[in-house]
Amino acid sequence: MITPQSYKWFFEPTTPVEGHMHAIRRTVVEAQTKFQHVEILETAAYGKTLILDGRIQSSQGDEFIYHEALCHPGLLAVEGAPRSALVIGGGEGATLREILRYPSIQRAVMVDIDGEVVELCRQHLPEMHRGAFDDPRTEVRHEDARAYLEHGREPFDFITIDLTEPLEEGPACMLFTREFYGLVRDRLTPGGAMTLQAGMTKIGELAFYTSIHRTLREVFPIVAGYQTFISCFGTPWGFIAATRKVDPRKQDAAAIDRLIADRVKGDLAYWDGQTHLHAFGLPKFVRKAIDAQSRIVTDRNPLIVS
Ligand code: SAM
Repeated sequence: MITPQSYKWFFEPTTPVEGHMHAIRRTVVEAQTKFQHVEILETAAYGKTLILDGRIQSSQGDEFIYHEALCHPGLLAVEGAPRSALVIGGGEGATLREILRYPSIQRAVMVDIDGEVVELCRQHLPEMHRGAFDDPRTEVRHEDARAYLEHGREPFDFITIDLTEPLEEGPACMLFTREFYGLVRDRLTPGGAMTLQAGMTKIGELAFYTSIHRTLREVFPIVAGYQTFISCFGTPWGFIAATRKVDPRKQDAAAIDRLIADRVKGDLAYWDGQTHLHAFGLPKFVRKAIDAQSRIVTDRNPLIVS
């Protein structure tokens, strides 16, 4: 008989006084890179799971929810079919995979600072990248994404920011600021769109999400928050889309379904018109917190997570 005692357990604190536990079947790999501590664990509930510095990034069982939510609202808000895309971070390669579902995409660049993480994901998480790293349209670079944006000029129709949290001393610390979002905006084509993952949207833990939302409003005319529940995180998760032209909140369900049919090859498992309306229909307490937030995150006053 299987009981909780049959397993080792991984505990992820979501806040200092709350957390989520996962029964572990086996450790696939564990390593310390130059930038972060990496574990790929096989959990009993969700299969293989990537954990960086003790934080779950994604799991085999529900990563389609996270990665579809991260990519499609932005790709569907690009004016005209998207031809080029940039992934900032992106470790597992599943973000790239979603972008490459668009036959109109001719070039997809992924800039992840940590080549060792990407190599471990390439080797041990083929279920997630599904060959995206080997697609001829893909270019993977290992450098700080901020330096990449500061030194290059290539424009992109879609940019998505799929980063680890800005932990003190962590590699993503200066990639959540007004100045950084300005660099992103300047590399988007006029009809382009960006999206990012922006942390939890659960009650009592909204400061991170609302600060990023407030900061993006300094940089983009259209900023639309949305959320979805990520089971392996055990909490609702916030995302934000920002553009200069198309407002995703004004796209109705029929328009989203039509755009998916026109732009995406194959079936999506999560995102469609109905899901779009649900995700962008933020609950009242989240909308109120967004409206009340006054903090703008800057290079001089970055958002540090402990
Ligand atoms: N899906 C994840 C989640 O739940 O937040 C995040 C995806 S991914 C694993 C995050 C990646 O961001 C990591 O692989 C990390 O190496 C990368 N990263 C962190 N800081 C970076 C930086 N300054 N430049 C480029 N990539 C960075």
